[in-house]
Amino acid sequence: MTITTDALIIGGGLMGCSIAFQLAERNISTLLVERNALPGKETTARSGAIIRAHYGVPELVKLAQAANLRYLRFEDEVGESCGFTQCGYIVLVDDGDVSVLKANTAMHRDFGVDVSLIPPSGIGDIVPTIMTDDVALASYEPLGGYANPSMTVGAYAKRAEQLGAKFRYNSTIESAKLVGSGWEIVLANGEQVSSEHVILATGNWSQGVGKHFHIDLPVSPIRAQIVVTDRPGNGEHMPVVSDLINLAYFREEGEGGMWIGSSDMSDLQEKLPIPDGFNEKADIAAIEKAVQKAKLRFKSLPGVYPSNVQRAFTGLYETTPDWQPIIDQLPGNIHVAVGFSGHGFKLAPVIGDIVADAVAGKPTNQEVDIFRLSRFAEGKQIKSQHSYQRARFLR
Ligand SMILES: Cc1cc2nc3c(=O)[nH]c(=O)nc-3n(C[C@H](O)[C@H](O)[C@H](O)COP(=O)(O)OP(=O)(O)OC[C@H]3O[C@@H](n4cnc5c(N)ncnc54)[C@H](O)[C@@H]3O)c2cc1C
Repeated sequence: MTITTDALIIGGGLMGCSIAFQLAERNISTLLVERNALPGKETTARSGAIIRAHYGVPELVKLAQAANLRYLRFEDEVGESCGFTQCGYIVLVDDGDVSVLKANTAMHRDFGVDVSLIPPSGIGDIVPTIMTDDVALASYEPLGGYANPSMTVGAYAKRAEQLGAKFRYNSTIESAKLVGSGWEIVLANGEQVSSEHVILATGNWSQGVGKHFHIDLPVSPIRAQIVVTDRPGNGEHMPVVSDLINLAYFREEGEGGMWIGSSDMSDLQEKLPIPDGFNEKADIAAIEKAVQKAKLRFKSLPGVYPSNVQRAFTGLYETTPDWQPIIDQLPGNIHVAVGFSGHGFKLAPVIGDIVADAVAGKPTNQEVDIFRLSRFAEGKQIKSQHSYQRARFLR
């Protein structure tokens, strides 16, 4: 049997599902193929899902800012909740990074981001549990926060299907051939798909999948370890805290938990040749380091180590050489939305729009040229305008 569709999406993570929703909203017939039995069970499922606009690359700030506003009205737009908690986002720096934080904040304000600089004496009003002795300056974005990954991806998938998009789970592609202006695809179960447009939303699997389309997508999985401890204080709500002094980020997790991730490039060196079969367990050294960072930043971490560690696990950042996404439309109507390098969750609502507009032949109102694939061959890798001493291109 041959399925004829206008758009074939490969990959049913957050990107694929957001794109499917936007295509379905535009009445473009869509088939999404996902190799797992459910959507969003890979990188998306392990995401911190933090939403904020703070970056040093202006084009990324603008995308993140537009997406943050979309998350705020997600339920009105999609018809389902994404579990967004608008708790705010605070960045802490020491003396060495004050000028960088000021420059970034000025740039963010130029783009209309709601953000203010806070002196150390004012931080306690926002996060009473925090220690600020080593903090020289902070910035605060009240609109930032975090969402629930499975609710977000589930909302997009459900609404896309209700609007007519077709989903094939436990399914992958076997081969692809350009015939005239469209693609003839054979799925692993033998089904044939004929599609004008192909969208690659394959995250960490993009190098392998790109080969079917003769494209070299420089996306490498890098192992990132996450630790969840009991929350400091008496379980009060807290904003997301990006500690650019100790190179860690903290956010509340569930009832009384605190998610700790690393912003230290030296912790993000374990590049894997392929994403499958990676070690999903966190190392003891990484757990101890995360707990230590929490102790340096918060007045008291409740409980006794290790019983105050609720869980620890590993995810894979889908990284490109400059830690910036590849968002592009290539010859043969191939659309690429991969390599989000730890920034993808927050961007998903606008990525859906950008790709769906490209498929519809409508110019996007976002500035995405900088994220083209050819930048690597052209030697035009993306750089932060104002880079922090230690966090460097993670911001
Ligand atoms: C630990 C961690 C914390 C993070 N925290 C944040 C954060 O706080 N904020 C933020 O903005 N971002 C964060 N990110 C990044 C963000 O989660 C990712 O960028 C985003 O989830 C990527 O979504 P995706 O759909 O591109 O990839 P995925 O979710 O990996 O989806 C890709 C899908 O493609 C499918 N697939 C692959 N190959 C094939 C094939 N051949 N056929 C069919 N299907 C295929 C896979 O099964 C998978 O479901 C974090 C990432 C990690 C690892």
